[in-house]
Amino acid sequence: MESTHTNVSIEAVKGGITQQPDVEAIVNAANAELTTGGGVAGAIHHAAGPELYKECQDFAPIRPGEAVITRAYKLPNKYVIHCLGPMYERKKNYEDLLANCYKNALKLAEENKIKSIAFPAISTGVFGYPMEEATEVAVKTILGEVSKLKHLEKIKFVLFTQADLEIYQRKLEELY
Ligand code: ADP
Repeated sequence: MESTHTNVSIEAVKGGITQQPDVEAIVNAANAELTTGGGVAGAIHHAAGPELYKECQDFAPIRPGEAVITRAYKLPNKYVIHCLGPMYERKKNYEDLLANCYKNALKLAEENKIKSIAFPAISTGVFGYPMEEATEVAVKTILGEVSKLKHLEKIKFVLFTQADLEIYQRKLEELY
């Protein structure tokens, strides 16, 4: 599905975050040390190659809610924006920390004049954030920021499963 909010198109698609050649930046659901590992971070580091890990070490560690930007090396994109999501219910303000990931990623995208970006569902894998709740935070936060965007024209949510895609589609319809 695709919808336009002011001048920004927002869509949810099913797929892998490393297979989004139509966006300038992809977002990594990173760990604090910005190392490889499983899930999104593993896929991104595997596809980007060891140069990405080297650049990441200049920034690590990062705290929950923070984001940093690197080049994308062998990925078909220009940048990777690495966000550390919160572990579900581990800290009192886990909802704010997840919202900060999306806000800080958009801020870095704007500072780098990025026109298109793809987000995975941050914190919903090993960090245990239930998909419904995380989707609400992601979509609300992004919709709350779109009026401030000057460079971004396209925002994509990339979901790994059909069930997750349907949650995003429903939430986007509900909140628009
Ligand atoms: P976190 O540690 O922030 O929970 P994970 O990488 O474990 O991050 O998972 C985040 C979400 O991304 C999960 O919903 C998972 O199913 C999904 N996911 C895993 N691999 C990929 C991928 N290659 N592309 C897009 N989404 C993915």
